[in-house]
Amino acid sequence: MKMELKGTVPVLGLSPKIDGNTRIYGIFGWPISHTASPAMHNAAFRYSGINSVYVPFHVPPGDIKRAIKSIIPLGISGVNITVPYKETAFKLVDETSRESQLIGAVNTIVVQGDKLIGHNTDAQGFLRSLKYDGRTNPYRKNVVLLGSGGAARAVAIQLAMTNVKSLCIVNRTFSRAIRLARYIKRHFPNIKISPAYLKSKAINEALESADILINATTCGMKRGDPLLVDHSLLHPGIVVYDLIYKPQETKLITEAKQMGLKTVNGFGMLLYQGAAAFEIWTGKKAPLEIMRQSLEIYAD
Ligand code: NAP
Repeated sequence: MKMELKGTVPVLGLSPKIDGNTRIYGIFGWPISHTASPAMHNAAFRYSGINSVYVPFHVPPGDIKRAIKSIIPLGISGVNITVPYKETAFKLVDETSRESQLIGAVNTIVVQGDKLIGHNTDAQGFLRSLKYDGRTNPYRKNVVLLGSGGAARAVAIQLAMTNVKSLCIVNRTFSRAIRLARYIKRHFPNIKISPAYLKSKAINEALESADILINATTCGMKRGDPLLVDHSLLHPGIVVYDLIYKPQETKLITEAKQMGLKTVNGFGMLLYQGAAAFEIWTGKKAPLEIMRQSLEIYAD
């Protein structure tokens, strides 16, 4: 039965109809109880009339290899992989997409015959969100990226694939910024890449000509986290993107909004990475609005 979209999500309260033909999808992670993905994907399956269910799998450290090897024998059709297993999953699948090869991490696995195919939809999710929510195309733009962890790596590679003009990678641990910058340079020699230490003057210069500032650190998730860049360095016209979606408004976003700047939080990235995974699994267009509403209700 196809559900109609009327105001709030009508599918959320309904449990999935499970029978002998129900396909199983899920998410492997540790810890996993905070995940909003089951709400989003089950709503999407119900709305699209697809006989599938999406469940959380609590995979303890040390068991990820056995868990991934169990996907095919258990008849699971596909899974998302989340923290801390994205890099391990990359090594355990049979084939990988170009993005996941460059990023070195897999967040979506689909079963094709007797093979596990690994994708990374985080990077695509970020780009779609920047384009649709932020109405900003990073092509030939100057970008300052805060962070050098897993999310920053996915974002940096996506930006490089989109041919940004320059990318300044800023991190508290400078050696990680250097490593990521070198990696990007090796694969994308035409892009101007520079690493910078978080407390250095190099950031001020990079921000002066920046079109986009992205926070891909965890700083901002907790109340009382410091602002990593002095807001006086933000100039009119710069777009501020914070990958954090909980809280919905970090200190960085609040400061930028007060200055009248265009701001985007990480909610859209979460939504679009899920939509891309849904499309890989089902071959159908993701019901974006229903997925957005289910996430919004969950994230409140
Ligand atoms: P990660 O691999 O643990 O990396 C953490 C990054 O934050 C590192 O660069 C780290 O710097 C930096 N950092 C942490 N505390 C800091 C502080 N007090 N001051 C300055 N820098 C600090 O984490 P991740 O997986 O990349 O995730 C990063 C953020 O992205 C998280 O907030 C996560 O929720 C968000 N995210 C959002 C989505 C989405 O769909 N919206 C998807 C993925 C991730 P060092 O190298 O110096 O430790």
